[in-house]
Amino acid sequence: MIETTLDIQAIRKDFPILQREVNGHPLVYLDNAATSQTPQQVIDAIVDYYQRYNANIHRGVHTLSQEATDAYEAARQKIRKHFNIVHSHEVIFTSGTTQSINLVATGFNSFLKEGDEILVSAMEHHSNIVPWQMLCERTGAVLKVIPMNLEGELVMEEYHNLLTSRTKLVFCNHVSNALGTINPIKEIIEAAHKAGAAVLIDGAQAAAHIKADMQALDVDFYTVSAHKMCGPTGVGMLYGKEEWLKKLPPYQGGGEMIAEVTFEKTTYADLPHKFEAGTPNICGGIAFGAALDYMNSIGFDAIAQYEDELLHYATEQLLAIDGLKIYGTAAHKTSVISFNIEGIHPYDIGTIVDKLGIAVRTGHHCAQPIMDFYKIPGTVRASFSFYNTKDEVDKLVEGVTRAKNMLL
Ligand SMILES: *Cc1c(COP(=O)(O)O)cnc(C)c1O
Repeated sequence: MIETTLDIQAIRKDFPILQREVNGHPLVYLDNAATSQTPQQVIDAIVDYYQRYNANIHRGVHTLSQEATDAYEAARQKIRKHFNIVHSHEVIFTSGTTQSINLVATGFNSFLKEGDEILVSAMEHHSNIVPWQMLCERTGAVLKVIPMNLEGELVMEEYHNLLTSRTKLVFCNHVSNALGTINPIKEIIEAAHKAGAAVLIDGAQAAAHIKADMQALDVDFYTVSAHKMCGPTGVGMLYGKEEWLKKLPPYQGGGEMIAEVTFEKTTYADLPHKFEAGTPNICGGIAFGAALDYMNSIGFDAIAQYEDELLHYATEQLLAIDGLKIYGTAAHKTSVISFNIEGIHPYDIGTIVDKLGIAVRTGHHCAQPIMDFYKIPGTVRASFSFYNTKDEVDKLVEGVTRAKNMLL
């Protein structure tokens, strides 16, 4: 039995897409780790913006421009409050986690020299590996990997051994998108700081499940994509400590990010505008704020508790299928289940359950090194959100069983 204080049926009514059918069956959406669905409240915020006050921000004296600027800056305040950030100018709007990470990686060019070391965890998303490899190529710094064990947990002893005075940066995700592992980021940050290194935490996968507190974590940088937490695609956040954001050079040149421009010399605008060149995703930023309002109205504690119950129920039910193996069995994990059935390619399972209206992810989940570690081509990944139900878990189990019977 799943006991929750949430009224899941009422919540589901907020998501128009959950009412649709796919291939003649009610949609069972279990690809939340790739992107979450959008509630009517967020859709309304988007429509309202384009119907009533679409205008460019920060530049116009006219009323529409001021309304748009106010709404955009109000969204920045909502983000600041949600993540318990000291200054609103420490909230940089970006197009998402990938851009946030690239902004920092590019900015570190001038801070690194040959022989410096960057530590990344073994369970990173490609967007948290490639920018650092590029940074190492540019600077001669060396990338080192914090290993993980078979359960999909970081080997913290090894991490502590890898930290030296050469370590300048540590990068790790808060939650692994492929395995669901919740990493001990507080310990990671504290140890890195003792060694004199800065830390960037990729919060893309955590933000829909855990309300991260920037001050309590004392993290240097933290990244989020709105589309994984009920917001639209193409917008996200980079949190950076003021001292770091002041030191980092601008990422892109253009309008909005300047104080004064002549052909001889340009001076840059103050934070956060220094990192927000050009017309931003205004509507997206406002909708990001609406998404935070929506999720907070449900409550992150209730969400985490319910999703944990779904995770345990789904784990139990799936493991009852003979030959099914789950990858990522960390003691602390979010509602992500990566699995395979012996002798069957994950893609084939994904294709068959799609015919039954069930959306799961198959493949390497942008985390090829994890698949190499387990010596598998990929997995089937079912990722649950607070709007999923036990009934949908049952449908998944039925679908996977059917796929197995057809394919073996
Ligand atoms: C989704 C995800 C990313 C990439 O986010 P984008 O929105 O595609 O930029 C990075 N890291 C993790 C852990 C993710 O889950």
